[in-house]
Amino acid sequence: MTQAQGLTQKQAGELLTTYGPNEISHQSAQTPLNLALNQFNSPLVIILCLATILSLALGDTFEGLLILAIVILNAGLGFIQEYRAEKALLSLRQMTITIVRVTRDGKEREIDSKELVPGDVIFLEEGNKVPADAQLLHSLHFEVDESSLTGESIAIEKDAGEQANKLIFLGTTVVRGRATAVIKATGMKTKFGAIAAKLSTMQKEETQLEKKLKIVAKQIGFAALFVAVIIGIIGVIKGIPILTIILTAVSLAVAAVPEGLPAVITITLAVGTQRMAKKKAILRKLSAIEALGGITLIATDKTGTLTKNEMRVSRVWIDNKTFEVNALPKNNAPLRHLITTGILCNNASLAPQGASQKFDVIGDKTEGALLLLAQHLNIETQTRKQDGALTEEFAFDATSKTMSVIWKTGGSYRVHAKGAPEMILSQSSRILTADGDRALSEKEKKVIFQSFDEMAADGLRLIALATKTMSWQRQSRHQIESDLTFIGFVGISDPPREEVKDAIQTARNAGIETVMITGDNALTAHAIAKQIGLMHPRDEVITGSQFASLSKEEKRRKLPSIRVFARTSPEQKLEIVSLFQEAGHVVAATGDGVNDALALKQADVGVAMGITGTDVAKEAADMVITDDNYATIVSAVEEGRIIYDNMKASIKYLIGSNIGEILSILGGALLGWPFILLPIQILYINLITDGLPALALALNARHRNIMARAPRTEKNLFTTHDIRWLTEVSSLTALSTLAAFAVGYYLQNVALGRTLAFVILALAQQYIFLDIMAQDRSMFTKHVFTNIWVIIPLAVTALQLFLIHTSFFKAMFQLTKPHQIPLLIAVLLCSIMIVISEARKRFFRHWFYS
Ligand code: ATP
Repeated sequence: MTQAQGLTQKQAGELLTTYGPNEISHQSAQTPLNLALNQFNSPLVIILCLATILSLALGDTFEGLLILAIVILNAGLGFIQEYRAEKALLSLRQMTITIVRVTRDGKEREIDSKELVPGDVIFLEEGNKVPADAQLLHSLHFEVDESSLTGESIAIEKDAGEQANKLIFLGTTVVRGRATAVIKATGMKTKFGAIAAKLSTMQKEETQLEKKLKIVAKQIGFAALFVAVIIGIIGVIKGIPILTIILTAVSLAVAAVPEGLPAVITITLAVGTQRMAKKKAILRKLSAIEALGGITLIATDKTGTLTKNEMRVSRVWIDNKTFEVNALPKNNAPLRHLITTGILCNNASLAPQGASQKFDVIGDKTEGALLLLAQHLNIETQTRKQDGALTEEFAFDATSKTMSVIWKTGGSYRVHAKGAPEMILSQSSRILTADGDRALSEKEKKVIFQSFDEMAADGLRLIALATKTMSWQRQSRHQIESDLTFIGFVGISDPPREEVKDAIQTARNAGIETVMITGDNALTAHAIAKQIGLMHPRDEVITGSQFASLSKEEKRRKLPSIRVFARTSPEQKLEIVSLFQEAGHVVAATGDGVNDALALKQADVGVAMGITGTDVAKEAADMVITDDNYATIVSAVEEGRIIYDNMKASIKYLIGSNIGEILSILGGALLGWPFILLPIQILYINLITDGLPALALALNARHRNIMARAPRTEKNLFTTHDIRWLTEVSSLTALSTLAAFAVGYYLQNVALGRTLAFVILALAQQYIFLDIMAQDRSMFTKHVFTNIWVIIPLAVTALQLFLIHTSFFKAMFQLTKPHQIPLLIAVLLCSIMIVISEARKRFFRHWFYS
């Protein structure tokens, strides 16, 4: 096989074993050891360790060891959480794959870039990422952006004919033209690999939420320290032993500082984004998750996203007549020309599906439809191309909506052009008929325009084809694409995806509007929009040129009623996204082309297509959907809402119960009582009764009706409603705990007071947990009793009762077994408070939540 024919599949397999996969191995910045040590990297934990040593030195061995055990257990739990999160994030990052067009066994195919080996011959075009270091074999207007290597972002021309300029490198992107190239080095052996090996590239970016939370955590931390100091002062005044004071103050600080918050956020994000990845939505930037949960408008492409992207030519217009594809005339000159232009002005190729008669399209599906038409008429597409040589190519341009090439056959040059029919027709001065070509009058053009509309109204995608001979001289694109001879046009069917209609309705129920922004014809777009239930009776379709003629004020006014933007340019997509944002929408916008990158960046959530999207679009996006399907965006929004709700629920739980703890202990101290909880009890509560429910809330995947409510509108993490709720539940916790202590203390002694406070504090916290679940309505699923996340807090309560009834644990936590009466009184008091709180919610709502 020659170099240009590439490798055989067998050779490639052997080389893959020798060289390994073509990938840059990202090293995690966090080694497990690092992570484990980080758990002890908190001043409070260090003080606690010192306190342990102190109590051991003073002979209080049992308590010392117990505190140490709890500290280690706490660190272990933190480590497991963070380690899992780190692993999940890493695997997520490795999930975005790059597909490369490669020649193996002399045939073109698409493979994952990881499978590339030195010697492979690849095809590259605008928007592709260069997948390995390679040397150009053929190139046409080929320019790359090497800024990822050199830092300078200007397009550099590369040329297969120039010795000094024919090497291209992994990590750079093709900004123009096309080329074939042979791979020289892969993976860590590439120039980029050498740089990456020096850098540890994995840096986890912080989400807005994490930033906000760090501030909240700090504030609570300060409050806890303040209370710890007050406790200390009171302790000294009351002459309590200094070790007890230190231990109590420090335990309180450890318990109250929500140092677990960032970990809870990371794990919620990591687990949630993995769930999303299973549903084919890969989040590239974690920071997009908040916006995703709050999306109010999806601006979507049509082709491939709302439709199946299974394109087949179903009608052909030539010589003033329309034919169904199965009834095309034989021996017809315009048809022959139409097919030839369709084959030559084309970058796609066909790959047979196994031994069947069916073919997969490699490359652009619209162009593939023209090759399938040729195949249908038994015309060999490859041989046509070998009859001449390609001398010039102007790739499809989303603004002019045309593509053209110049082929040299023998001594003559011929232009082959195709594109949106009105563009091609307006540039045509002649028309090809069965009797040869002749001049095309303006009147005739008007009639042809009507034929466009008739075909487009049936939802078909139109491509017109034209040609002309020329004498060779360098000319501008405009010159080459004018004065053409119109051959005819084809209507390509691309049916809507079945699941899209329901997904649009789901989005609507969730308060999310959908608009279509497409480059396609207005009538085609309208027909598809109607089929998928996108249009309301009074909704409008507007074309790019109509939109451009409006003043900014008119655009703003009209915006809410426009459902379909047709024949738009990529710049207009950017403008439309910004206008919707100005109108207060949180926008998810889809894109696939190089020109879509700006709109993807502008949108709150830029969504790139995994299959048809260029690497440039994927790089600019916040999320990549691997099946290109609109319905996947809707399910990603649902996951986004779940993730946000879960984060908020566990944050609310942690903060509510921590403030409850602080208030209880502070309240006891201010009332002049002995410390109402012992350090060991505080630490246990922090670990088990705080930690587990918070984790349960973070991981809760069962949410009902999450897509039946309007998008979140609040900008801040906590609404005034949340703050009032936090005040209420934390005071309720404190009052119940203090009441319980009082019952035990006054009926018997301090030990019983602490035992009851210990039990009731945990109970009150479980009430907070259940109240949050009830607010999110997620508790009321059918499977309430098989739901582990409901069982856990109940188990916590049972455990609490078990501790006070087992002599071993009683000794360990210095509890006394309460008589039934005081326990009942304490539980009753707590219940009364809960009932009052519930009644207030039901009957006096306006009291609090006005
Ligand atoms: P969407 O933005 O919804 O994906 P689209 O893919 O239909 O829309 P474009 O790709 O910009 O939009 O296509 C616009 C028009 O350009 C099409 O209606 C078609 O007439 C023409 N066209 C599309 N692809 C090609 C191509 N490869 N060569 C020539 N003309 C094309």
